[in-house]
Amino acid sequence: MVITESLKHQEVLGLKFGYAPIGRPQLWVYIYFIDGLLIDTGQRRASKQILENTENLAVDQIFITHHHEDHTGNIRAMQEKHSCEVFGSEKCSQIMKNPPGISTAQWLVWGNRDAYDHIQPISETLKTNKHHFQIIPIPGHSPDMVALYEPQQKWLFSADLFINSYIGYFLEGESMRDQIESTKRILELDFDIMFCAHNPQLTDAKSSLKRKMDFLESFFEQVATLHNKGYSDRQIFKSLKLKEDHFVKFLSGGQLSKINMVRSVVSDIERKP
Ligand SMILES: [Zn+2]
Repeated sequence: MVITESLKHQEVLGLKFGYAPIGRPQLWVYIYFIDGLLIDTGQRRASKQILENTENLAVDQIFITHHHEDHTGNIRAMQEKHSCEVFGSEKCSQIMKNPPGISTAQWLVWGNRDAYDHIQPISETLKTNKHHFQIIPIPGHSPDMVALYEPQQKWLFSADLFINSYIGYFLEGESMRDQIESTKRILELDFDIMFCAHNPQLTDAKSSLKRKMDFLESFFEQVATLHNKGYSDRQIFKSLKLKEDHFVKFLSGGQLSKINMVRSVVSDIERKP
C-alpha cells in the first residue's frame, strides 16, 4: 500500500510518501519543492505516486541531500521527466556512482536505487529565482549529507539530521560525534522551520533540535565514561539499562539497532580520543 499526503507551508510544498508491503505504512519520506527546486526524490517503492504527484510541478533543478535509498530512489526518472540538472555534495556525487548495497529490510520498505553518475557536485550556494540557499555539510548520519539553509526565510532543509529529539537506533557506521558537531553548527544558524525529510518541524524547530543535541551529548558522555573505565560495548549497554527494539532490529536485518549507538561512540573515541 502506498499513501501520499502533502503539506504546504509558506511557499514550500512537501509531499509525503509511505509504502508498506502489507497494511498501513509506518515509515514516511518527504520530498520538498520550492521555486523550481526539488529536494530529494523519495523511495523507489513509491515511484509511480512520486512521478504522478510531481508531474505538474515546474521542476528546473533537483538537489540530493545524501545517498541513502529513500532520498535517491527516483533520480533518473525525475531527471528524465523534467530534463533538468541534478546537484549534490561532492561526496554524494562520488558515492552515487557506485552506491553501497542495502539490506533486505531496506529493500522491502524503500526499494533499491540505481547508480547515478551525473550528480553535479556543488558547495556553498544553490540559487533559485527567488532564493539563495547555503549548502551546509552535516556529516554523521552519512558522510555526504548536507543541509540547505535559506537565511531570509529562516528555512532549514535538514535532510536526516533531526528525525526526532530522541533516537532509539543507529545504522552501522553512523558517527555520533560527527552528528553532535553538525547539530552544534546548525544550532548557530537563525532558523524557524526545519523541513526534515521524515518529520518536518513547523513550530519550535530550534528547541526540538536542541533537545536532540542534549540527548546525543548526554548519551555520548555516559558511554564514554564507561568505555574509559574499561567496560565492553555489551557491559556499557547493560549498565545504562538500554533496551534493544528487537522488532526494528529484525525488520532492518540487523542494520538498525541501539547497540550501534554504543558502538558509534566507542569507535568515535578510538578514532580520536
Ligand atoms: Zn538517511
